[in-house]
Amino acid sequence: MDREVRVRFAPSPTGPLHIGGVRTALYNYLFARQNGGKMILRIEDTDSQRFVPGAEAYINEALAWLGIEIDEGIAQGGPYGPYKQSERRDIYREHVKTLLDNGKAYIAFDTPAELDAARQATPNFQYDSHTRGRMRNSLTMDPAEVQRLIDEGTPYVVRFKIDAGRAVEVNDLIRGKVTIKSDILDDKVLYKSADDLPTYHLANIVDDHLMKISHVIRGEEWLPSAPLHVLLYEAFGWADTMPQFVHLPLLLKPDGKGKLSKRDGDRLGFPVFPLLWTDPATGNVSRGYREDGYLPQAVVNFLALLGWNPGDDTEIMSMQELINRFSLEHCSRSGAKFAYEKGTWFNHQYLQMLPDEELAELFKPILREHGVNPDDFSDDYIRRAVGLVKGRINFVRDLWQHAAFFFVAPTEYEEKSVRKRWTAETPAQLTEMLQWMSQLPSLSPADAETPVLDKIKERQWHMGNVMNALRLAVVGECKGPHMFEITELLGYPEVERRVNTAIKNIQIPD
Ligand code: GLU
Repeated sequence: MDREVRVRFAPSPTGPLHIGGVRTALYNYLFARQNGGKMILRIEDTDSQRFVPGAEAYINEALAWLGIEIDEGIAQGGPYGPYKQSERRDIYREHVKTLLDNGKAYIAFDTPAELDAARQATPNFQYDSHTRGRMRNSLTMDPAEVQRLIDEGTPYVVRFKIDAGRAVEVNDLIRGKVTIKSDILDDKVLYKSADDLPTYHLANIVDDHLMKISHVIRGEEWLPSAPLHVLLYEAFGWADTMPQFVHLPLLLKPDGKGKLSKRDGDRLGFPVFPLLWTDPATGNVSRGYREDGYLPQAVVNFLALLGWNPGDDTEIMSMQELINRFSLEHCSRSGAKFAYEKGTWFNHQYLQMLPDEELAELFKPILREHGVNPDDFSDDYIRRAVGLVKGRINFVRDLWQHAAFFFVAPTEYEEKSVRKRWTAETPAQLTEMLQWMSQLPSLSPADAETPVLDKIKERQWHMGNVMNALRLAVVGECKGPHMFEITELLGYPEVERRVNTAIKNIQIPD
């Protein structure tokens, strides 16, 4: 079928966007871009009971952060708006009327109490072709009575009239053909007069049709709704332009058993939301990938591979490469384990690819958090410090742990190494070493390493002890980048200061 590719991401603003929803949005986006199609964002807010303030803004912010661009939506506009379902009531009302007029739907007045009673009376009660004849609806009641109740403002719902004995086929690009019997479906509520709003099913189908959606790419949890959706397309006479269904595999718990939940994140220490979220009702805070220090490119790359593979073992792919290589045919049918450590690995990889200038900018707020004013240092200094330690970090915030000593001189010295390396001769040796250093053009590896090491050998000092004592004095512990890269960046005056402080502060162990 040669049809313009038009896909939609259709979240309900009932809370923060879950990471599985982000993956759905990403796959829609990759597919749209690859095919020169359109990516539509539609807000499905017909469930007034579950509406959560701030959720819509959160969705927009999360997608923007990740670089998932929207072509048509509330902010972008477009030819098939409004893109928010609560603003499309007239459209749904008109479509409900069409179904009623064509005998594809009916009006039902059963109260919650009456429905409860029916459930009590009949085990596994389902409102369907077998039971609707005993309920209070426009199929069983006198038309004049129906009209009277409506005119009086009695609350009612409109139900979809599903015929029994039909085999309903759903063609799914990942799962193939799935056939179910219409008998297992109930006469779903399509519209509620109480809030003058359609339910998800009706609004979803009407909008997909009117917005000319070519592919419905969504999570597997919506697969059970698909047969009903197929019947709705038929009932409206839209079967010819029904979108292609694509149900993406579930995201599973990291240990593989069952669906990924927020509790898994809390238990194992990873976020399941793209951005930090503060629940407006409870004030509870849920962590987010952004605030946890993930780069959006890393999150995108990580998510892209949860349920899809490029057909070879390529792992690092930019958004553009993902757009080029993505294919729905390579999406897996079985659930994808949420291997969150892999997300950390991706973040490490992307941090290494980031130019040091950018990393330095990301480090500045962290310096401030630790009481260091980055303006006291040149941009070049911060950039070089970051460059020396970035190989050791998974998150920007890890920079502090590895690079703090470039900004704050040590005042404490790691005890075990002091005991091992700091001897009675150390103060004199380091003082003499400062002497040599002060004569050198710089303390860089090129200028200082060979002369200093040669002198140590000449003086027949214990190489390991002296060099580690120097490191203790300068860094505070026996870790970190190459010694002479450190001394080069700190510069002679600072090295001298630190060595003298250490000599003053470190007791010679007995
Ligand atoms: N509003 C539904 C959701 O919250 C949309 C499901 C679909 O894509 O059809 O995910």
